[in-house]
Amino acid sequence: MTLSIAKRVLEEIHTHAESTYPEECCGLLISDRSKHVTESIRMKNAYDGPKHDRYNIDPLELFRADRASAQKGLTIAGIYHSHPDYPATLSKFDTDHSFPWYSYVVVSVPKGQAGDTRAWIPKEDRTSAMEETMEVFG
Ligand SMILES: [Zn+2]
Repeated sequence: MTLSIAKRVLEEIHTHAESTYPEECCGLLISDRSKHVTESIRMKNAYDGPKHDRYNIDPLELFRADRASAQKGLTIAGIYHSHPDYPATLSKFDTDHSFPWYSYVVVSVPKGQAGDTRAWIPKEDRTSAMEETMEVFG
């Protein structure tokens, strides 16, 4: 399945990624059932340590966002996060800690400027991830 993201959502993700540089940002991709992402929700990077190459989403914050989205008939299609001065690929840490039912959007932020943005789907066993086609609409 293709992950479609509204242009203004992608811009908001880029703004978020630049605002937390040189630390990673993270957030949720909110969509309808056919992976049309029309909203994003910023999450706090709750990683308990240096945040320049790690992020963690508080499960309670995720749960609340999931419930709020469901009340609007929407769902969490995936998770986005940034890679300060690192390519837009999933790291081993990322795949090890991923959920195979989510899409993962990664934004590369070289020198503080959001750039290459790619989507990934982890394999069931979390050993690797496949790139997902991403299209921008609106
Ligand atoms: Zn990462």
